[in-house]
Amino acid sequence: MPKQIIIAEQHHIAAVFWEDRVQELVVATGNQQVGDIYLGIVENVIPGIDAAFVNIGDAERNGFIHVTDLGPLRLKKTAGAITELLTPQQKVLVQVMKEPTGNKGPRLTGNITLPGRYLVLMPYGKGVNLSRRIKDENERSRLRALAILIKPAGMGLLVRTEAEGKAEEAIMEDLESLQRQWESIQHQATSTRAPALLSRDDDFIQRVLRDMYSADVNRIVVDSSAGVKRVKQQLMNWSGGRPPEGVLIDHHREPQPILDYFRVNAAIREALKPRVDLPSGGYIIIEPTEALTVIDVNSGSFTRSATARETVLWTNSEAATEIARQLRLRNIGGVIVVDFIDMDSPRDQLKLLEHFNKALKTDKARPQIAQLSELGLVELTRKRQGKNIYELFGQTCPTCGGLGHLVRLPGEGEPIALETPAIAPLPSVTRSADRQIEEPEPFFESPFEYANGEIGQQLDLLYHPSYQEQGLAATNNRRRRRRRSTDGIEKEGGTGRSAPIAATKELVLDVDAPEVEERKERPQKSPRREEVPVEKVSVEMTPMEQNVYALMGISPLVRLNREFKDPKSVIVSVKSPGESDTLPSETIATPAPVAETVAVSEIETSLPVENGDGEEERPLIRRRRRRSSAKEA
Ligand SMILES: [Zn+2]
Repeated sequence: MPKQIIIAEQHHIAAVFWEDRVQELVVATGNQQVGDIYLGIVENVIPGIDAAFVNIGDAERNGFIHVTDLGPLRLKKTAGAITELLTPQQKVLVQVMKEPTGNKGPRLTGNITLPGRYLVLMPYGKGVNLSRRIKDENERSRLRALAILIKPAGMGLLVRTEAEGKAEEAIMEDLESLQRQWESIQHQATSTRAPALLSRDDDFIQRVLRDMYSADVNRIVVDSSAGVKRVKQQLMNWSGGRPPEGVLIDHHREPQPILDYFRVNAAIREALKPRVDLPSGGYIIIEPTEALTVIDVNSGSFTRSATARETVLWTNSEAATEIARQLRLRNIGGVIVVDFIDMDSPRDQLKLLEHFNKALKTDKARPQIAQLSELGLVELTRKRQGKNIYELFGQTCPTCGGLGHLVRLPGEGEPIALETPAIAPLPSVTRSADRQIEEPEPFFESPFEYANGEIGQQLDLLYHPSYQEQGLAATNNRRRRRRRSTDGIEKEGGTGRSAPIAATKELVLDVDAPEVEERKERPQKSPRREEVPVEKVSVEMTPMEQNVYALMGISPLVRLNREFKDPKSVIVSVKSPGESDTLPSETIATPAPVAETVAVSEIETSLPVENGDGEEERPLIRRRRRRSSAKEA
């Protein structure tokens, strides 16, 4: 199928498109990149983990080499403990296998490989190997024969898929260039002081083309004119000096940056979210963990086919296609477990597995379906290579440590802000705030229940001395937090970092700000109640009115056409028309039985009560809830 490659050279990001979607990314970032070759110094050898740490010139962290990756570095031919094979201060020529992640240094190997366009030279390797993707037997024979003929003595050679159908001269030229590269590395290794970087794929365009260009690429867009020239030059070299056919090479001249124009950044942003929607209404949830990645397939509210069986198969097939794409796009390696929607029919299961297998075929990291477990889970493995999208563009949220959950224990923290379901820090499955904003409904339910569950507890607090303080503190927290989180977003967005996506994403969700600091402010506010002098008022009401007001839970204060600084500090005495003011037996005072307390709070709802700091309507939510529960009871 026709492919397009978008190259943002300045950002060292390239995207491969087909079927109008970003399918794969090439990103070169960081101090240590896969393929870098270093002259390092063994710092310490750790027998307990059969590994050694190697100084490769990064003050922050050493590289890590496992005994199985020593290759030519081992001091003895015989097998043995790593302490016998490597000694501290030994100089070693190593290559980065896996880029550093978190606080782990890069993983190194002594088995150096030099990839070219058509061949991979393995200076310490053996024999000739052919890419399994070359299917044609005649072509395999031709390439194998050629490789055996030209292979340098004592080295290994791998023939890449790209060599298929290529002239012998082009392949030989590729080998010569790799051999020159190796000679240069060896020369530097003897003449340079360790630790030092000896070789790197410096040319991003060359790397992208080497890894991503194939005959089905019909368009390449580069963001610089110099880049366009280099693409043309490179393709001409590979096609024996002739201009490449069937491919348009464009210079991106639009005012909008190339990554925005082609929506690459948008695709990256989407690929950091757990949820991916499928065309027919189903969706998948991708949850990476330390040990493996779990993918859950959900049918959503999809009713395309007449029968449920067809629906399930259809959704599963759509999911399989999308999972294959997401694994490439996110560059998820290691063990992956997919929980498809259950299917009883073995025929359907087989159909799905075939479809999934086919969808995975286009992936160069060669995902392999390991098994279909008894529970109907499909397990597969995918080669780890380079960083995944979370490592490249994400950042673990410091508040929840990447879990996507914030702790909220009974009796601690803030109550749920019902008026802002979209940004409340809910214990939901997703780490994506965007998603919550788009779809608050599914997440709204559970916190609401939780809130209701708390009401009983809050009722008990009613006469507790610190109740007032708590209500105040809670609301203050809520407000401050919301404001703070907005500030955070603005700040993050303004730093001009290449990938503010993750930071923003997390910040919106984790509106929970430090708890300690805010608690401190509580006592300061608490004396408020004492400050307001108690006021006595009397209200005239007929017995009927009194009944209705009591039933509705409305305060008699609404009858008086005036404002109260603090309705809680008002003692109301209700009198029948014509009655004298002083009838203590009919006095309704606060604190009072639930219904009447509630009635007072209603004042705050209906009357504009002023209190200078503008926070007077704060206890609304709690009181309202209480009222509704009082009614139910
Ligand atoms: Zn978080």
